[in-house]
Amino acid sequence: MSIALYPGSFDPVTNGHVDIAARAASLFEQVVVAVYDIPPKHLLFTTEERVELMRKALAYLPNIRVESYSGLTVDFAKKMNAKALVRGLRVSSDFEREFEMALMNKKLAPDMELVCFMTNLEYQFVSSSLIKEACKLGGYIDDLVPEHVALAMREKFAVEPDAR
Ligand code: ADP
Repeated sequence: MSIALYPGSFDPVTNGHVDIAARAASLFEQVVVAVYDIPPKHLLFTTEERVELMRKALAYLPNIRVESYSGLTVDFAKKMNAKALVRGLRVSSDFEREFEMALMNKKLAPDMELVCFMTNLEYQFVSSSLIKEACKLGGYIDDLVPEHVALAMREKFAVEPDAR
């Protein structure tokens, strides 16, 4: 079976992430979305919350499972029998970071391949961090994340739902 691992912080999952996961699921027989336990950034959601939000967002795709992991991504990918890592590329800054990471991963696990999906035009500027910032200030972000994610963010920030 062809298995791919889509790793990330997913704090929280956005429509951009869902799009990449769904496209990967049409290419591979199984996709494991891997929620990184302790990424080097400030998190809004706990690992369990990020996993739950992602599971709900991708429940409609039967060949996707969502797991959390810690340690090296390539080690977890091997554990899941994945032969490829999936990442999404937005603007050029993504490319430089992904390229560096890919080279390091290649050194750590020479047999692991990387498959990068170009972002869908409408998600080009969709990022978890910007969405969190906008939501915190009461901005309308409902068309950029799944419905339950918008709700969960508003609960965290204790902001009222946008009337639009
Ligand atoms: P990480 O901290 O590992 O970068 P993220 O949750 O920010 O985790 O992103 C996970 C992956 O999804 C990365 O490859 C990132 O480039 C990609 N990604 C994030 N947002 C989008 C988007 N809007 N369109 C396409 N890919 C995206």
